Amino acid sequence: MKLEIENLTKKFGDLVAVDDVSMTIEDGEFVTFVGPSGCGKTTTLRCVAGLETPTSGSIKIDGEDMTYASPKERGTAFVFQDYALYPHMTARRNMSFALESTSMSDEEIRESVESTAEMLGIREHLDQTPGELSGGQQQRVALGRSIVRDPKIFLLDEPLSNLDAKLRVQMRAELQQLHQEIKSTTIYVTHDQEEAMTMSDRIAILNDGRLQQIAPPEVAYSQPANEFVAGFIGSPSMNFLDCTVSNGTVETAAFSFDAPDGAHGAVTLGIRPENITLGPPSDDGHVDATVSVFEQVGSFNIVYLDIDGLDDVVAQVPGAKQFEPGARVSVTIDTGRIHLFADDGETVHNPPVFTKQPAAAE
Ligand code: ATP
Repeated sequence: MKLEIENLTKKFGDLVAVDDVSMTIEDGEFVTFVGPSGCGKTTTLRCVAGLETPTSGSIKIDGEDMTYASPKERGTAFVFQDYALYPHMTARRNMSFALESTSMSDEEIRESVESTAEMLGIREHLDQTPGELSGGQQQRVALGRSIVRDPKIFLLDEPLSNLDAKLRVQMRAELQQLHQEIKSTTIYVTHDQEEAMTMSDRIAILNDGRLQQIAPPEVAYSQPANEFVAGFIGSPSMNFLDCTVSNGTVETAAFSFDAPDGAHGAVTLGIRPENITLGPPSDDGHVDATVSVFEQVGSFNIVYLDIDGLDDVVAQVPGAKQFEPGARVSVTIDTGRIHLFADDGETVHNPPVFTKQPAAAE
C-alpha cells in the first residue's frame, strides 16, 4: 500500500510536535524515521496509525483519504517499544488473540500463527508463556502478533530498544529478511542512526518536528541536505570547521585548498573522520597535530587531534594504526570528500555518492 503524508501538522497546545511534514512512501518500501528525542517521530507514526488526530494536513493510504479514519479501518499494525504480551497466555494465544474476533476459522488461525512462527523461528516456543521466553523471543512473538493480522502497513516504534546490543544487531538482520518476505509497506522509528542506515530503503531525518531530508541511506550519508543531517548521520560524527571561501580557495585556521565549483558563501567545512589521514610528522607544508585522545575500537580506531587554531578534530584510522596520546602526526584531509555549508546550515557543496557495484547478470 502506498502511503501519502501531506502537510501533516500536530500541535499539543502551543507545542508543534510535527510541523508541515510531507512524504510519499511507496508500496512495499521500508522507511525509517530517525532523529533526536522529541523530534516528532512517534507523533507522526501515531497520526499514520490513527492514534492521534492531525491538527492539519492529510494521510492517504492507496489514494484514499484516511486522515480521520479509525485505526481499524486503516489496516495498519503498530508494534510498540513496550510490546506488552499477555503474561498468562501462551505465545500461540498471544498471536492468535486478535484473530479470534475475525471471520477466520480456527484452522485458518492455526495455520497463520504456525507459518508466521516458523518464519520468525519461534515455532517450538508457541506453547510457552512470555515468562518462559527470552527477550528476543518475546520480541518475535510481539512482531508475529502483528504479522498474522496481515497488515497493509507496518508501523514499528523502537521495537528493538529493550534488547541487548548483540540481539539488536541480530534482530535487525531478521527484520530486514522478514520485510523481504512479507513486503508490507513499513515505517520504523528509531533514534539510532546506525539502525536507520542499516535497515532502510530510505531514511527520513526529523528535527524539531520538521522533515530535514528523506533519501536512501547512502545519499543521506554522502549528500546531506543540511548541517543537521550531516552531523546526525554517521558515527563518529562529521567534523565541522569554520571556513571562508575567497579567490577560489577554501580556508580554515589550519587547512587551505582549492574550492570546489559553487562553494561561494560557505562558512562551515564538513569532513568525516574517515576522510582524514594521519601520517608521520613532516615539515613539507602538511598540517601537524598532537593526539589528545586515542580510542581503541578494534576494526578501526578513533583519534582526537589538537590542531593549532581548531577545536578538537576527530579522525578514524584503520585498526592497525595505534597512537599514544601526545604523539605528533601530520594530518591530510581528502578534499574530494568535503562538505560545505552556508550560515543558515543549508548545504552548499557535497561530494558524489559512492556507487554500488551492480548485481551480476543471471
Ligand atoms: P522519542 O525518541 O523521545 O520518543 P519522538 O521523536 O518520538 O521522541 P514525540 O514522542 O513524537 O518525539 O514527541 C514530539 C514532541 O511532542 C515532544 O516535545 C513531546 O514532549 C510532545 N508530545 C508528544 N505527545 C504529547 C502529548 N500527548 N501531549 C503533549 N505533548 C506531547
